[in-house]
Amino acid sequence: MTREGAQGVGELLGIGAFAHASRLSPKALRLYDGLGLLPPAYVDPASGYRYYAPDQLARARLVAWLRRVGMPLARIRDVCAMEGAEAASAVRAYWDGVEADTALRRDLAASLVDHLSGRDTTMTQTVDIQYAALTDTGLVRESNQDAVYAGDTVLAVADGFGADGEGASSAAVGALAEFGRSVPAGGLLGALDDAVRGADRAVRDLGGPESGTTLTALFLDGAQLGLVHIGDSRAYLLRDGGLFRITDDHTHVQRQIDEGRLTAEEGRSHPQRALLLRALGADGEDPAAEVRLRDVHPGDRYLLCSDGLYAVVPDADVRRTLLAADGPADAVRELVRQSNAAGGPDNVACVVADVTPR
Ligand code: MG
Repeated sequence: MTREGAQGVGELLGIGAFAHASRLSPKALRLYDGLGLLPPAYVDPASGYRYYAPDQLARARLVAWLRRVGMPLARIRDVCAMEGAEAASAVRAYWDGVEADTALRRDLAASLVDHLSGRDTTMTQTVDIQYAALTDTGLVRESNQDAVYAGDTVLAVADGFGADGEGASSAAVGALAEFGRSVPAGGLLGALDDAVRGADRAVRDLGGPESGTTLTALFLDGAQLGLVHIGDSRAYLLRDGGLFRITDDHTHVQRQIDEGRLTAEEGRSHPQRALLLRALGADGEDPAAEVRLRDVHPGDRYLLCSDGLYAVVPDADVRRTLLAADGPADAVRELVRQSNAAGGPDNVACVVADVTPR
């Protein structure tokens, strides 16, 4: 194309004028040209000067705004190729990820503050746990993709998905169980991180495309309790008669509830309520799991469960059951029975553990 041929849409702008109008630097414009993100309308073959058409300004401004949001260039290129509604949801999805990542780092920073200020070691009483675990296929599904594990140092539930969801959840739980046999001395936080990476690797090593798993686990290291969490399985704490949920669901629906765009009630019946923001074995290099230290109180009763329980058994019934149960084994049997009595639409997995003084 000649300079005149490219001129049909109006007077072309030199790179300096276009940079000024778009608030992008000439250096950035050259980079974006190289990446195919914003090629000039015309390049003078003799001088190499770049010329831009005025109707490229809208795209240039969008690129500039998305850079200010912090979006990587490769994603900006994808967004620029999309129509309005699709582009809007791509920007929203990107920002959901940023906020999820920030929340993770906030939690980790809080744990580190507690750890460094010695607050997490004020309770030095050594405790044990009494535990029971149970999983059930339910009444509708043909196979069980949930997995559970409970041992003296590790409690875990996982809810697999995809072609090899069963393999994924078993691999994650198996890797944690193995890890729990020899929790390295010193620094439970670091150990939790290693445990998550090990579980993620075990899931990826299966090589099942599109398969992955949630993972919610507690580690006991003498007088310290650590929580690992990714996906939409949950951990609850029963303390002094009250039931407290101590994990957030990593789902798109939960994100919209947090932002006030959906009510909790609407979220419960949302058709995409199980669509995960994060999971083990999913895309991305780092398993973005929450890793947290918890204070240890003898008398606490913990529940870990998959969505097969909480989606059909109301919290009030879960609380009543945990309060009434004689021990962990009684509690998991009764919770699984209730989810099947409510139709058993999904696989269900429960672990219940009591913290007792040693
Ligand atoms: Mg499930």
